[in-house]
Amino acid sequence: MIISMRLHASREEIDEVRKQVEHFGYKVHSIEGEERVVIGVVGLGDVTACLESVEAMPQVEKVVRISAPYKFVSKEFRAGRTRIPVNGTEIGGDEFVVMAGPCSVESEQQIMRAAEGVARAGAKILRGGAFKPRTSPYDFQGMEVEGLKLLQRAKKATGLAIITEVMSDRDVELVAEHADIMQVGARNMQNFVLLKALGKCGRPVLLKRGMSGTIKELLMSAEYVVAHGNPDVILCERGIRTFETETRNTCDIAAIPALNELTHLPVILDPSHATGKRSLVPALARAGVAIGADGLLVEAHPAPEKAISDGAQSLDLPQFQKMMQELKPYIQLWQESRKKEVGAAAR
Ligand code: PEP
Ligand code: MN
Repeated sequence: MIISMRLHASREEIDEVRKQVEHFGYKVHSIEGEERVVIGVVGLGDVTACLESVEAMPQVEKVVRISAPYKFVSKEFRAGRTRIPVNGTEIGGDEFVVMAGPCSVESEQQIMRAAEGVARAGAKILRGGAFKPRTSPYDFQGMEVEGLKLLQRAKKATGLAIITEVMSDRDVELVAEHADIMQVGARNMQNFVLLKALGKCGRPVLLKRGMSGTIKELLMSAEYVVAHGNPDVILCERGIRTFETETRNTCDIAAIPALNELTHLPVILDPSHATGKRSLVPALARAGVAIGADGLLVEAHPAPEKAISDGAQSLDLPQFQKMMQELKPYIQLWQESRKKEVGAAAR
């Protein structure tokens, strides 16, 4: 159940509702907007009695019964799409947003060349890991703070926004000082301590699907971030682990429309980790546009053969430029269909 308070309800009025809900044995999670507070009610109890009692309170605008276990991120909670402004662009809105850059930040020259190349090709957001989750403890673990500083320098030079991974709750504050979007990697999809900390980070969060995470588990993880105070979550399909070995992961392309049916949050596709092979990236990127993703997260590197991580799946800059060029007619169709959707919703 979700309770939407009247605009500018006072603290006492909100507490009164909270007490009433708790009286029925439920737990309360609230999202405090600038003007309106929304209260999520979870737990087991007499739903109808609680709903009717709260609905009668004058400070309450609306009460909606939500059956999904992920309440705030469910489509039942919000019919329209969540649009997330990032540095002058918007994710989940009328623009198909491409985020691109190397897997890891490796040097100033590398990140600068990558940033300039992807910006020229039309990307709006620069990716680059400063904290790297690596399967082997002996592999490069990332440049950490130095990497974050280099990303900032690239932002200043190109105007691109920055997305970078945060691996630990201890680093949330530091990464939030440098990033426009906080990336949660597949291996951390269910790091609940991290997800809770990101609820308070003040930055949008891009949550990657875990390699063995179900769609429902992905949504429950997003619910953690939202229930802890941050409504700006972007979901990312990046392939899951199956018996197939020809590709690095198996891209669950159907997850994108499935998520679009279940949640109002933006959904993007990472065709790089989904395939592990640069030759397959452009085709999968096209599929992402066609199937209604809100954007892409693509690995691109000025010299993939020298990349410290994920070189085999990274496009070089001319390949990235070519892919972006070839995506244009698809993105145009995407925009037309988004416009129709907005028009239909307004009618
Ligand atoms: C990455 O984006 O470089 C990365 C580590 O991705 P994932 O968490 O999806 O494996
Ligand atoms: Mn990578």
